[in-house]
Amino acid sequence: MKYDTVIGLEVHCELKTQTKCFCGCKNNFGDEPNSNCCPVCLGFPGALPVLNKKAVEYAVIAGLAFNCSINNESVFERKNYFYPDLSKAYQISQLEKPLCVNGYVEINVDGKPKKIRLNRIHLEEDAGKLIHDGIGGTVVDYNRGGVPLIEIVTEPDISSAEEAVAFLEALKNTIAYTGISDVKMEEGSLRCDVNLSVKPSDSVVLGTRTEMKNLNSFKAVYRAINYEQKRQIEEIEDGHKIVQETLRWDDNIGESKSMRSKEDSQDYRYFPDPDLLPVYISNEQIESLKNSIPKLPSELKQIYLGYGLSDYDASLLVESKAISDYFNEVLSYVNEPKIVANFIINEVLRKLKECNENKMKAQELSELVTLVAKKEISATAGKQVFEKMWETGKSANVLVEELGLKQVNNDDELLSYVVAAIQNNPQSVADYKSGKLSAIGFLVGQVMKASKGKANPQKVNEMLKAELEK
Ligand code: ADP
Ligand code: MG
Ligand code: ZN
Repeated sequence: MKYDTVIGLEVHCELKTQTKCFCGCKNNFGDEPNSNCCPVCLGFPGALPVLNKKAVEYAVIAGLAFNCSINNESVFERKNYFYPDLSKAYQISQLEKPLCVNGYVEINVDGKPKKIRLNRIHLEEDAGKLIHDGIGGTVVDYNRGGVPLIEIVTEPDISSAEEAVAFLEALKNTIAYTGISDVKMEEGSLRCDVNLSVKPSDSVVLGTRTEMKNLNSFKAVYRAINYEQKRQIEEIEDGHKIVQETLRWDDNIGESKSMRSKEDSQDYRYFPDPDLLPVYISNEQIESLKNSIPKLPSELKQIYLGYGLSDYDASLLVESKAISDYFNEVLSYVNEPKIVANFIINEVLRKLKECNENKMKAQELSELVTLVAKKEISATAGKQVFEKMWETGKSANVLVEELGLKQVNNDDELLSYVVAAIQNNPQSVADYKSGKLSAIGFLVGQVMKASKGKANPQKVNEMLKAELEK
């Protein structure tokens, strides 16, 4: 039997606000444990939360970036459960009336675009962090407790590990462009749960899902999905039923293990938090937040396509804000999008893989681009100069002189090479004259050789033709 995999993701993303969601404690990763805590975020009796306006704005920005509708009124609720990392014994979250609903994220897998619908994006607070000491003890750091989080919930529209990773990459990249989060999976500011079920391909009814937690890299998400879809199909083929449960993915052994049977939302006894008023956001406020969002990768890509770049090149340039900012900056000095894109994609990105620090200032690169654009040096020489610029920090103009790479555009000098090539290669000349026009290629090659690669090939071509037609 053929099966389809059905996946919905729940992504948690910590917002990069100065302070926590409901108190004035610092929101700082890596500080001394339990140094950023107060009666509010520790849940002392009687302490009252005050909503952080910035957190709401960031959540709305996320909603707008992912094409959601923003609810003018939203409500905070208490999600009640006990766990040592949650000192209040409830988490402030949103259930019935979240800030954002009904968006989508566009992905592209194997050249096929697909829209993954979002069910909602809501604002909530993070829990503290348990640290297991490895010899049987556990300590807790409440610094993270109360840090603002958005939870992004997709519809079950994802059908493979590849699509899930493409979704997460698109999501992460767009959030990075908005600047509302660091989206660092390794620091836990981006975390993902995978809900997965399988069903016979000819059935329209969704299967029973499991939820996998603890996925802290894209690779783990990929592996966990492939593992879990195979496990579920095997269970079904063996005549067993899938149990709805929460699994913990262990990336070291590459297996998922049962954590607990899956709870339903009624288990949490959600109710509106009596300490917090509903949040009202006017359409004007939403509009002004919308205008504050920098250009997102999807928009930038369209602009780059308009410059005549290929889809592939445009996509590469918008994979990181640092790179597209850099591209735009170089263009502000020299309006040669294709040449600039080639240098960035082939040279800068390659270098960045080795050393992570962009040593080439936008203006410096623009000088090199100008030389290539004006055909003062060839494209090949351009690469050579780039390499030396990166190494030595010298300017393009200085290096072109030093390396003697200036293209020969001087007509007299070129003409002497052209005449020599014609004299020395009577066979090619005869071929050309008898109609074998491609023979000119050999002659161009001879001139290039004589000029030690410095002749402008286009010009040589023209001059040869003119001489041969005489
Ligand atoms: P909960 O709040 O209990 O986790 P939700 O209904 O909010 O449940 O769904 C959580 C996620 O599970 C969503 O991303 C949703 O798309 C996904 N999901 C729901 N049903 C299925 C299913 N049968 N198979 C796979 N994913 C599912
Ligand atoms: Mg869930
Ligand atoms: Zn606090």
